[in-house]
Amino acid sequence: MTSKSAAAAARATVYGYPRQGAGRELKKAVEGYWKGRVDAGELRRTAAALRAATWRGLAGAGVHEVPTGDFSYYDHVLDTTVMVGAIPARHRAAVEADALDGYFAMARGTQDVAPLEMTKWFDTNYHYLVPELGPDTVFSADSAKQVDEFREARALGLDARPVLVGPLTYLLLAKPAPGVDEGFEPLTLLDRLLPVYAEVLADLRAAGAEWVQLDEPALVQDRSPAELNAAARVYRDLGALTDRPKLLVASYFDRLGDALPVLAKAPVDGLALDFTGPAAGNLDDLAAVGGLPGKRLVAGVVDGRNVWINDLAGSLATLATLLGLADRVDVAASCSLLHVPLDVTAERDIDGQIVRWLAFARQKTAEVVLLARGLERGTDAIAAELAANRADLASRAGSPITRDPAVRARTAAVTDADGRRSHPYPGRAAAQRARLGLPPLPTTTIGSFPQTTELRTARADLRAGRIGTEGYEERIEAEIREVISFQEKAGIDVLVHGEPERNDMVQYFAEQLTGYLATQHGWVQSYGTRYVRPPILAGDISRPGPMTVRWTSYAQSLTGRPVKGMLTGPVTMLAWSFVRDDQPLGETARQVALALRDEVNDLEAAGTSVIQVDEPALRETLPLRAAGRPAYLAWATEAFRLTTSGVRPDTQIHTHMCYAEFGDVLQAIDDLDADVISLEAARSHMQVAGELADAGYPREVGPGVYDIHSPRVPDTGEVTALLRRALAAVPAERLWVNPDCGLKTRGWTEVREALEHLVAAAREVRGEV
Ligand code: GLN
Ligand code: ZN
Repeated sequence: MTSKSAAAAARATVYGYPRQGAGRELKKAVEGYWKGRVDAGELRRTAAALRAATWRGLAGAGVHEVPTGDFSYYDHVLDTTVMVGAIPARHRAAVEADALDGYFAMARGTQDVAPLEMTKWFDTNYHYLVPELGPDTVFSADSAKQVDEFREARALGLDARPVLVGPLTYLLLAKPAPGVDEGFEPLTLLDRLLPVYAEVLADLRAAGAEWVQLDEPALVQDRSPAELNAAARVYRDLGALTDRPKLLVASYFDRLGDALPVLAKAPVDGLALDFTGPAAGNLDDLAAVGGLPGKRLVAGVVDGRNVWINDLAGSLATLATLLGLADRVDVAASCSLLHVPLDVTAERDIDGQIVRWLAFARQKTAEVVLLARGLERGTDAIAAELAANRADLASRAGSPITRDPAVRARTAAVTDADGRRSHPYPGRAAAQRARLGLPPLPTTTIGSFPQTTELRTARADLRAGRIGTEGYEERIEAEIREVISFQEKAGIDVLVHGEPERNDMVQYFAEQLTGYLATQHGWVQSYGTRYVRPPILAGDISRPGPMTVRWTSYAQSLTGRPVKGMLTGPVTMLAWSFVRDDQPLGETARQVALALRDEVNDLEAAGTSVIQVDEPALRETLPLRAAGRPAYLAWATEAFRLTTSGVRPDTQIHTHMCYAEFGDVLQAIDDLDADVISLEAARSHMQVAGELADAGYPREVGPGVYDIHSPRVPDTGEVTALLRRALAAVPAERLWVNPDCGLKTRGWTEVREALEHLVAAAREVRGEV
């Protein structure tokens, strides 16, 4: 782009911002309210103060149009459910008695009433509450939250744009309410829903909103012709309303594909499109449909879901191309900044050089503002900033952290053979049987035992310097002794050390691998008041030394039974971290896999005969569009095999996944070539076992027979019944007996009893096979 003045008045905007505040004020207030320590008035005041601070911060940074309505006490999809009046029947009484308590009852359930189901928001780690709809659903508009928050921002003298979940996405994210036929399609409710949106739009118009944003990320997934027709109808009908604000239809996380011509033709006033990562294809697609004549284009050129600084010159070039394709071009982050931490300047422990490579919500906002200025006034107006950005990008690209020649040489030398076990499965199975000498239907657990207050205190004491490393390790060893002795007494066959030393299954490894960064304040909302701090895959990954061998060996020294080594797999290490944006994900996965391979081999050398590599994220990381899936599954399964293929045939490799529906990754699970897989199955009545059997899965399987997500302790009869069901699908020689997942969130009392029942059930059923 030249330095000529280019756009008349490019505006900077964002679609949403982290909600909890720099001091985690919202989390504290909401949890305080639940515990009765904070009253409703105080909670509302805290929330209003946070919103005002966010808007002032955005406006102060130079954002022209601040988003409103994106704030939430819990979840914006639940807020939409309230806005359209789709309160499930079981929650209606609570909502009528008290709107706020009823809202939290839908989110979290009460003693008597189950909450809404929770699931992942597209391919992010944010979870939303799933709307429950049925043929009897009656919608009614409740625009109060949207109108009030818009007025709050206006009262501060700010130009604001309400942001709503669009009607199509709302219906596509919904599921049939309990008791409604499984085949019910929420999309059939469109005619009933649109008048409600029309009413909300009219209310916002009356409150003075010039623009309203309708988010339709569901349109970046593969959509059927009927769904695309529905999209056309929604925006034809909403566009035809006379009493309405200008409509900006937003999409993010991927390209719009077939939905782009539909929206481009619709009588709406603007589109907001993502131009980052896999969505960069929107640029060519937009040119192919002839651009958006007469419409406003909001260009998401700053990646809203990763933590790296923007390539400002590259973004300006994209923006310059876009100028020829729309009536007016504004600049934004690609999606709500909800998915990144608040402010990188709060990170005191990250090297100052590296901090300059990172951009959290506050820094991304500044980038958006800068790009808008560059677009409007020409690059000369931001020459100094562009030079600084160029220097930071060069510093990252040239850093030995980014490129470690030893790591590069090793990944380049990987051969197919490195990712293949030395013997095919049947021979390995025989060798493992001979080495391990396990009974039929062997019992085991998934790895973690309860994370007690004592363990958390020990970690806090270590951090605060109240105890030294030695004192901490003594406490961990004491816990391991307890876990081993309990399992021996309970009669479990393959033991675990209980993972007492792990703060988190990804962070624990991230802290020990070179190239990974941990943050101190990098909190990101996972759901409700639960926030996580994903580590950052910052550079080339290597393992300075063994990470788990010490604890597994200690546990093994206490018992004659096999103790399972326990690692987090490469795909999950990527899925629950911020990833590099400067190389393909498969390359990062390969580096992590090689580091983990060394750990697997070291465990084997230390005498470990069973090693489990957890991959709970294998399925959740599936690309949104089917076209991207084969490539993803290829690198993901290769990374797993690279991790696990360095061992002898008589070393047994387990894997674990926490989901009960996995039809779309069945082949990939086979391609992992693990010897044993454990899966979640208790709640879905062993459906998983049947699916695996039908697919001809040839290996050993442990479908969970104890639902660890509930505090309920199953009795022996229940577990026996589940086992018999599993036996109908999996032959006894290949069936394992284990819980659904790790036990870290449970209490010792429940765990003790439940595992005793599990062993009793295994013994009972063993007698029958
Ligand atoms: N080994 C881990 C544990 O037991 C597995 C956790 C998971 O699958 N999410 O906690
Ligand atoms: Zn699990």
